Amino acid sequence: MSEQALRYDLSQSDIPRQWYNIQADLPRPLPPVLHPGTKQPVGPDDLAPLFPMALIGQEVSQERYIDIPDEVREIYKLWRPTPLLRARRLEKALDTPAHIYYKYEGVSPSGSHKLNTATAQAWYNKAEGIGGLTTETGAGQWGTALAQACNFFDMTCRVYMVRISYEQKPYRRAIMQSFGAEVSASPGDSTQAGRMILEQDPDSTGSLGIAISEAVEAAATSGGRYKYALGSVLNHVLMHQTVIGQECLQQMALADEYPDVVVGPVGGGSNFAGIALPFLQRNLREGQSTRLLGVEPAACPSLTRGTYAYDFGDTAGMTPLVKMYTLGHGFVPAPLHAGGLRYHGMASIICELYDQGLMEAQALPQLETFEAALTFARSEGIIAAPEAAHGIAGAIREAQAAKEAGDERVILFNLCGHGHFDMSAYDAYLGGELSDYEYPQAAIERAMAELPQI
Ligand SMILES: *Cc1c(COP(=O)(O)O)cnc(C)c1O
Repeated sequence: MSEQALRYDLSQSDIPRQWYNIQADLPRPLPPVLHPGTKQPVGPDDLAPLFPMALIGQEVSQERYIDIPDEVREIYKLWRPTPLLRARRLEKALDTPAHIYYKYEGVSPSGSHKLNTATAQAWYNKAEGIGGLTTETGAGQWGTALAQACNFFDMTCRVYMVRISYEQKPYRRAIMQSFGAEVSASPGDSTQAGRMILEQDPDSTGSLGIAISEAVEAAATSGGRYKYALGSVLNHVLMHQTVIGQECLQQMALADEYPDVVVGPVGGGSNFAGIALPFLQRNLREGQSTRLLGVEPAACPSLTRGTYAYDFGDTAGMTPLVKMYTLGHGFVPAPLHAGGLRYHGMASIICELYDQGLMEAQALPQLETFEAALTFARSEGIIAAPEAAHGIAGAIREAQAAKEAGDERVILFNLCGHGHFDMSAYDAYLGGELSDYEYPQAAIERAMAELPQI
């Protein structure tokens, strides 16, 4: 019997040397980001209190490739290139003719793809003399990644952690603190935004939108000592993640296959962009026709049920206005376990791709995602993050469709993080305590009425 490959490994010299910037190849440019006061396009000066100039430049750059600084690439070597695996045991369990591949970003020290951009963002801030970064975290993956990245470059890190996660995930908090980060529960009384929310609702369990308001305010009022870092949504963040898809292109070539469909979960859009954009480039420039499928929770269906309109990125209305598929900045997420997917908006790049018909989206119910995660764990041996489970569930649906159609569809999905700190969610699922939740239409309509008028 000839030996069957399960892993397609690259060497360290194969780590990409550049990030890929989709803005160079978009058929229609991104809509401008607007100042919340003047409603005019924001310029570099508006963003300078929050971000270093290099990242502001990347945000609007039209260059197709941007060099990865050597110091960043050196740190990438701690976990990159990440493995690409053929999920042969999953294929067998599903009895599908499809060929299923997954890229595993859970091997990073932080356990998810987020360290790809955290490392880059910390480095660019350090290079411009910034001493520390503020940020928000929901499920804790982003806070962990930024705490590690700041530690690599000797910077301080202030994390505003959504209160419900702060209370339910003490070990996530302890990890961030182990890397020297200062972590506080959001909303809290150290910021004006936090005090305002607490006045209205003293028992607020917080949200990503609220924590963003606090972190932005803390940076903006720090007299230049701190800047702010966001773990998803922004163009430069999505670009930093393209190391994932660039490696996949090399690894699929080793497997001598090419994906018919690329699948990933979408929260803010960064891991999906990371795996999908290099394939989209082949679609746009080299005549390939890979389908790109983003999977979101039915409880937070920004792409499939949101409205494409200008909205704030945060709850308090402090951030610039971004045109995006939004559920409204006042969106209060259901207590869904995939915390990283509970954001009301979506990256501008992803919204344009969706609007231009360059990608597809699907909203899946929570129970199906956990069922998929267990099927995957029992065949491939990896416990996925609940967010990543949405990608697995999407891939399994594709594999089932391939079976019905009798085709050998090649499916590639992004297993963007492990779930070792999410076992309480698995515990709840196994105990039969989880249910499905569809975001109610009435709530969507209420939120739409509160969209800023442009
Ligand atoms: C943060 C996170 C997400 C959601 O964010 P994206 O920007 O959409 O990738 C999904 N999965 C994991 C494991 C995460 O840490």
